[in-house]
Amino acid sequence: MLKFVTRLAACGLLFSLASQLHAAPCLKVTLTGTQGGPPVFQGQAGSGTLVQFGDDENNCSDVNLQFDTGRGTTQRLSQAKTPVGKLQAIFLTHMHSDHTEGLADMMQLRWHFGSGGPKVDLVCSADAEAVAGHVLSCAKLAKHIGDALIQSGEMAQRLAENEKRLPGGPADLINLNSFKPSEEPAEVWKQGDVTVSAVGSRHIPGHASYRVDTPAGSVVIGGDAGNDNPKPPRESSTSAQVEKLSMGADIIVHSTIHPVMGPDKDSGFPPPIYFRQSTATDLGAMAKRAGAKHLMLTHLIPPLGAAKQGPYPIPGGGLTEDDYKNAVNEGGFTGNTVVGVDLSSLQLPQ
Ligand SMILES: [Zn+2]
Repeated sequence: MLKFVTRLAACGLLFSLASQLHAAPCLKVTLTGTQGGPPVFQGQAGSGTLVQFGDDENNCSDVNLQFDTGRGTTQRLSQAKTPVGKLQAIFLTHMHSDHTEGLADMMQLRWHFGSGGPKVDLVCSADAEAVAGHVLSCAKLAKHIGDALIQSGEMAQRLAENEKRLPGGPADLINLNSFKPSEEPAEVWKQGDVTVSAVGSRHIPGHASYRVDTPAGSVVIGGDAGNDNPKPPRESSTSAQVEKLSMGADIIVHSTIHPVMGPDKDSGFPPPIYFRQSTATDLGAMAKRAGAKHLMLTHLIPPLGAAKQGPYPIPGGGLTEDDYKNAVNEGGFTGNTVVGVDLSSLQLPQ
């Protein structure tokens, strides 16, 4: 009997050694929300990207990182088979609700079922003062993430029912990891073979763009970055800092606006808002210069097929996937363009 058990154990050891030998590292990038700006169209989730690294035997799921947390992120993560509780870190590009409003929901869920920990790292810009004098503060967003439910009395009620939950609410589960974005890429987070670096980029004060490097490939998350020069004349609507961050990256995920919304057309879309996004054509040109293999467009303004962006009509009617691809091609990009819809995904190596 003992011999049989020993043999079984040896077999198990051999099997796990063999699977480790065969396991190949992989990187998976999934768009958890592709809605551009505050409107909602046909149930699209708000902006967000899930980046995962692991090996092909665990579906690339050793390290699970969420970049931006628009509305509906929790639902999309569940569809991507990555529950909120499995995220090791959350990164925010900037303090706009279409990128942050899902965070309260995510953290409340984590508090509800995961108060025992671990905490999640929240990586974002340090407080940034605007010219007008107000301050954009990720630290305050984190500190007050559960306030509405604390004020309503719900949290006291739930704590009375289960004392094992953290007394301060979901904010107690956030490990704030803020940094001052710089012009040059700088490391902001690391775990094992996975390194995340960031640059400061223009959109609103405190906007940051990220790059994830892994043994299986690299991906840049541009966020809503635009050029430092807020309007034409300028060489490009894209960010020079994001371009630097993107050099040699395999995948670029970036918010975009279609040139049809420009002030030279008739949408009535406010020019300053148009100019602070990167156009699909300029992103195509940037992806080409950076040598990227894949360009994933997200945060599409306007959404595919929408007759309007919020209150602004689309000149010529709803756009198709080809309208976006053609705009990218005009920029000279000959790699793979993904016109993002919720849960669009790429895995490296392919
Ligand atoms: Zn946005």
